[in-house]
Amino acid sequence: MSVECFCLTKRYGRRLALDDVSLEIGDGGVTGLIGPNGAGKSTLIKIITGLVWPTEGFVLVDGFDAHREHTQAMRRIGAIIEWPAFIPDLTARQNLDIFSGGHGARYRAKRAEILRFMELDSALERRVGTFSTGMRQRLGITLALLPESEFIILDEPTNGLDPAGIVEIRQIIREYNRKFGVSVMVSSHLLSEVEQICDHLILIDDGKLKAWGEIGELLGDDRPELILEVDRPAEAAELLRKCAESGALPLGPVETADSGRLRLALGEAAPGAVNRLLVEAGFEVTHLARERRGLESFFLRQTEGEGRSCSE
Ligand code: ADP
Ligand code: MG
Repeated sequence: MSVECFCLTKRYGRRLALDDVSLEIGDGGVTGLIGPNGAGKSTLIKIITGLVWPTEGFVLVDGFDAHREHTQAMRRIGAIIEWPAFIPDLTARQNLDIFSGGHGARYRAKRAEILRFMELDSALERRVGTFSTGMRQRLGITLALLPESEFIILDEPTNGLDPAGIVEIRQIIREYNRKFGVSVMVSSHLLSEVEQICDHLILIDDGKLKAWGEIGELLGDDRPELILEVDRPAEAAELLRKCAESGALPLGPVETADSGRLRLALGEAAPGAVNRLLVEAGFEVTHLARERRGLESFFLRQTEGEGRSCSE
């Protein structure tokens, strides 16, 4: 099961929603599609699932063209895009029957299995209008999984959920992937969600593919960094650079951000030694924090200069 995108460009009038995106999503894992609001995530998902035609380029799902051979291509894909509006006055069972179009013993067995997994089995005969947002999202995922999908695509499944609900959906996605070997692509504008459940990452911003690959590879070595706020950042950076060059402190590169903060790769140095050095040289250190070179800083680097953050 693979999804291959070739040179996808999408224009809505003059608006360029996707700009020459090529990538391949392989078997087995969880792929995070991340980018700020308006980056083009939903557009990419709609093109992959054949709902929207690209202006240029094409998509192959298992070798079938997602648009010209839509039925074959979508046979093993389940997708929830811009979450389904269930009918509140009908029960969960009635809604699933209507929206999935499924019937028969095999469908019912599959439905029971997924509902058990989603912990919705006892809510099957309840009206969807009485469901919490989290229950509705789980019912949505159930719907995506019902056609014996081998690959499911979830567009911002944690939108509108409280922190507990987000954790729950995250666990469901990860566990379902492990237990049933279903490949998952999940979009989000929140990096913290992606970081914890995905093994692959697609980063888009302003319609452009900024990064794509295995998370560990993208992040490189996971050395901690030190974030510093001092009264005279440029001078402090200069001093730290000199110390690094002379070997007085085993530091990596020192960067100054526009905000006046310093970011430095710690190398073998301890934060306390950096602090002491600056204080002894007469600087006032107002903030000092160790930070893992995580996805958040990776993302900010990729999208730097555009003044936008991923949690926008
Ligand atoms: P995301 O899902 O990452 O928030 P979208 O794919 O929804 O981003 O949108 C990407 C860009 O394309 C946005 O600027 C959005 O306004 C624009 N866009 C999306 N759908 C349409 C549409 N049907 N008509 C016009 N512009 C659209
Ligand atoms: Mg979207």
